[in-house]
Amino acid sequence: MDIMILFKSLIFFSVFVSMFLFGYVYNRKVNSLSLRFLSGFLLANLIYASSYFFEISSDSLTQIKLALNFEYLGILFIPMFWVLIAWAYHPDNPVYNEKLLKKLRILYIIPIILNILVWTNDLHHWVYVHIGLNTDQSIFLLNVDRGPGFWVINGIIIVLFCVGSIRMISNLVKSNGNHRKQYLLLTLAATPPFLSYILILRQVIPYNLDINPIAFALSCILLFWGMYNLQLFNILPIAHKLVIEAIRDIMIVLNPKGCLIEYNIPATELFDNDNPDLFRTPLKDLYPHLSPLFCNSSDSYEIDLTMPNSEEIRTYSIYITPVIDRKNRLRGNLYLLHELTEMKKYLKELEYLAASDGLTNLLNHREFMKMATMEAQRLEEKGFGQFSLIMIDLDKFKMINDEYGHSAGDKVLQQLGLLIPQQLRPTDICARYGGEEFILLLYDTSLEQATFYAEKLRLAIEKTDFTYNGNKLNITGSFGVSTFSPEQNVSWEITLNHADSGLYMAKKAGRNVVHPIRSTDIVVNSDF
Ligand code: GH3
Ligand code: MG
Ligand code: MG
Repeated sequence: MDIMILFKSLIFFSVFVSMFLFGYVYNRKVNSLSLRFLSGFLLANLIYASSYFFEISSDSLTQIKLALNFEYLGILFIPMFWVLIAWAYHPDNPVYNEKLLKKLRILYIIPIILNILVWTNDLHHWVYVHIGLNTDQSIFLLNVDRGPGFWVINGIIIVLFCVGSIRMISNLVKSNGNHRKQYLLLTLAATPPFLSYILILRQVIPYNLDINPIAFALSCILLFWGMYNLQLFNILPIAHKLVIEAIRDIMIVLNPKGCLIEYNIPATELFDNDNPDLFRTPLKDLYPHLSPLFCNSSDSYEIDLTMPNSEEIRTYSIYITPVIDRKNRLRGNLYLLHELTEMKKYLKELEYLAASDGLTNLLNHREFMKMATMEAQRLEEKGFGQFSLIMIDLDKFKMINDEYGHSAGDKVLQQLGLLIPQQLRPTDICARYGGEEFILLLYDTSLEQATFYAEKLRLAIEKTDFTYNGNKLNITGSFGVSTFSPEQNVSWEITLNHADSGLYMAKKAGRNVVHPIRSTDIVVNSDF
C-alpha cells in the first residue's frame, strides 16, 4: 500500500510537470516548429499521465476502461511528436528541409488510426481480448488479456521512438562543437522511456504498474532544462527563422544548379510562389526576368530588374554569399536583395532640386559655375577650343515690380525660363544667375556666333508679349558677351568678368543692347 501511495505521488508529479511545462512552452507562442512539436509532446504526456492517475485512483471497471482509452489518446501521440522534434530541431543547418517536415506530418495518421482501434475495442477485441478487474489485491488494478493489436501498437510506439532517437544520435554525431551539448541532451532525453519500457517488458515492476508517464516526465524535465540552460529550442532555430522573416530585404537561397531551396516572404514579390515547379526548375529558367540576378559572380553588385507584368524597373543592390557545409562543399548561394528603386528616385529628385532654380526651372548659379568650370578645365587640358558666355540683365525690372507687383515680375521670369532655352541649341546651357539675371554658356562657339545668338535672343524678348492681368509689360534685356579659349591665357573667371563688363556697357549704351567684349579689350569694373 505504501508503494501505491509513492507511485500515485510520482504519477501526480508527472501530471504536474507536464502541465507546467506545457503551459510554459505554449505561452511562448514562438514561431518555431520544434517548440510547437515539443508542446504537442508535453500535451500528449499530460493527457497520458493524468488519465493514468485517474485509472489508478478509480474503483469501477467502467471508469478504469474509460481512463485506459484516454491514456492511448496521449501515449500514441508521444512517439510521433518525438520523431517530429528529432527532424525539426536543426540549429546546425540553416537550410533545413521544411518540405520533408511537411511530409512527415503524415505521421499524424498513425495515432489517429490506432486510437480508433483502441476506442472501438469492444466491437472487435483486437487490442484487448478481455478487460477485467484484478480483485486479488487490495487495490483496483486492471487484469487484461492482450490481443495482437496490443503488440502491434507497442511495436509501432517502439519503432517510432527508435527512429526519432536514431535521428537524434546521428545529429549528435554530425553536429559541430557549438551544438553538440544540445543534441546530447536531446539524446539523453530519450533514455528514460527506453529504460521504463525495458523494465515493463521484463515485468519487474510491482503489480505491473505503468511507469512510462514518470519516464516521459523525466524526458520533459531534461528537455526543459535544455531550453533554459543550453538554449535547446528557443534561441537558434527561432532566431534564424525570425531574422529571415524580419528582414525586409529579399532573401533567396539557390542550390548549385540554381533551383530554389529557401526564400522569405518579401521574395514572393519577384516570383509566383504557388508555381509547382518552384523547387524543381532553375529559377532563371522559370522566371527569365530574374536572369540579371545571376549574371555576376562578384559578391556584391547592382542590377535592374524589369517586372514582367508592369514593365516597371526596379533597382536592387545584391549581396551574394556561398552556402558552404561543414565538409567545405558548396551547397548553394544566398542572395540578399536590397531594393534601391525609391532611394534612386529620391536621389534623382534631390540632385535636380540641388541643381535647379525653383522659380524658372533653369539651372541655378552653383550648377552653372560647376558646369562652366568643368568645360573650361576640359578645354585647358585639350589646349585649344572655345566657349562663349552671354550674360543677360533685364532692363528697369524694378519698375515692373513697383507698378504691377512682385508676382507680375515672377511671372515674367518664369516665362523667360521657357523662352530663352527655345532660342538656343539644345546643347547650350542656360541658368538663372541671380534675381533677374540669366547666363548662357554656348559650347564651341566664337564671339561672333555668340553675339549673333544674343542678338536673336534680344529681339525675341523684345517682341514677346508679356501680359499680366490684362496689362501689357514691356520687357527687354541688356546683353554682355565674351569668349573663353585656353589659347588666350585668360582664366574662364576673367572671361565671366568680361561678360559682366559687356553687360555694363550695354546698360550704358541705353539698354536693350548686345555688347560683346573681346578678351583683349580694356576691362572696366562693373557695378550694378
Ligand atoms: P537695370 O535696368 O539697371 O537693371 O534696372 P533694374 O530695375 O532691373 O535694376 P537691378 O537689375 O539692379 O534690379 C533688379 C530688380 O529685380 C530688383 C528686384 O526688384 C527685381 N528682382 C530680382 N529678383 C526678383 C525676383 O525673383 N522676382 C521679382 N518679381 N523681382 C525680382
Ligand atoms: Mg540686376
Ligand atoms: Mg536689371
